[in-house]
Amino acid sequence: MGASFHGFPGLDRPAIRRRLMAWYRRTRRDLPWRRREGDGYAQLLAEFMLQQTQVATVVGYFERFLSRFPAVTDLARADVGDVLALWSGLGYYRRARNLHAAARQIVEEHEGVVPRDVKALMRLPGVGRYTAGAIASIAYGTRAAVLDGNVARVLMRLLAIDDDPKSPVLRQRLWQVAESLVPTRRCGDFNQGLMELGATLCRPNSPACVQCPLRRECGAHALGLTGRIPRPGRRASVRSVEFVVAAIRRGRRLLFARRPLTGLWAGLWELPSEPVRPGESPRAARDRLRKRLLASCRLSVTPATHTTRQLTHRRVTLHVYMGGVAPPASTHQPRRSFARDGRLPAKRFRRSAGSSPCPARWLEPSDLPSVGISRATHAVLKLLSF
Ligand code: SF4
Repeated sequence: MGASFHGFPGLDRPAIRRRLMAWYRRTRRDLPWRRREGDGYAQLLAEFMLQQTQVATVVGYFERFLSRFPAVTDLARADVGDVLALWSGLGYYRRARNLHAAARQIVEEHEGVVPRDVKALMRLPGVGRYTAGAIASIAYGTRAAVLDGNVARVLMRLLAIDDDPKSPVLRQRLWQVAESLVPTRRCGDFNQGLMELGATLCRPNSPACVQCPLRRECGAHALGLTGRIPRPGRRASVRSVEFVVAAIRRGRRLLFARRPLTGLWAGLWELPSEPVRPGESPRAARDRLRKRLLASCRLSVTPATHTTRQLTHRRVTLHVYMGGVAPPASTHQPRRSFARDGRLPAKRFRRSAGSSPCPARWLEPSDLPSVGISRATHAVLKLLSF
């Protein structure tokens, strides 16, 4: 790893390694990526999916991805839209785009083999120090440390460090502690043991110290400080944003538009939407949205329903207006204004004045698995019984 392994007085490192690894071997959960521990691609996939997502949610996605893209070359060849579609519902879609870009880089620069080396791994899009350490140690037995939120909490408690867990100085120190603890052999098991301990016993609230294999080495346990360590972090501020959404029906289908490739829900498909500007009423945003739709599209005057979604730093409210397509009444609006494949003429649907036209399509419920859709759009579709 390049960094020095100083060691820290007060920690019985051999005892910690021995007890943690014995406990991990005895109690580890049977997870699909643990059945493929020597497989760099499977570990890459698992680590991308596990970033900010619960294990139970990831299991099904991991299996579907491996079944659809069994090798890194299959993933690299895939269209990013198909990757986003398969990722639908897992959230944090930037991970899916980074995963796809990383697969391409692995094929182009590493002959289709996930690198073993932490520095090479960290040059892949979306791979930070933690992810690189996890892949290198679990897939290849490379001696590398990991430090995520779970591991940081365990280390802070072992050392009885009562500090702000987000402090950069503390993070640096914890990385050094993690590096000093990694054994030379079976380091993947050791790292997974630390992560497993943080996820299952050394929880943020009410840690199960009585079952913990490290209770004899734990400073916080000895000093009765487990309730104080780590300190609650400062809450990130949450911004409220609103959108108006057009649910335009045409028979069994709804009109969908693709979001731009940057920003919120980048590249995903949604019901056409327009942000409500600060100080503006949803009605004014609805009028703007109406102007961007085809002349033949009608839109209700008031919203039929709304839903609020909590994202990491945003609370998003969606006001849903119902709409339809008027039958062709004159030669000015011939039905052939829709192309045969159901595409809306792109030049008629712009995200905002001066922006590029966005692709639009009519989709029916059976089409949804083939396109990437955010959880927020899924929530709207559920409200519409679509
Ligand atoms: S003894 Fe308790 S606080 Fe210490 S590492 Fe184990 S579970 Fe965490």
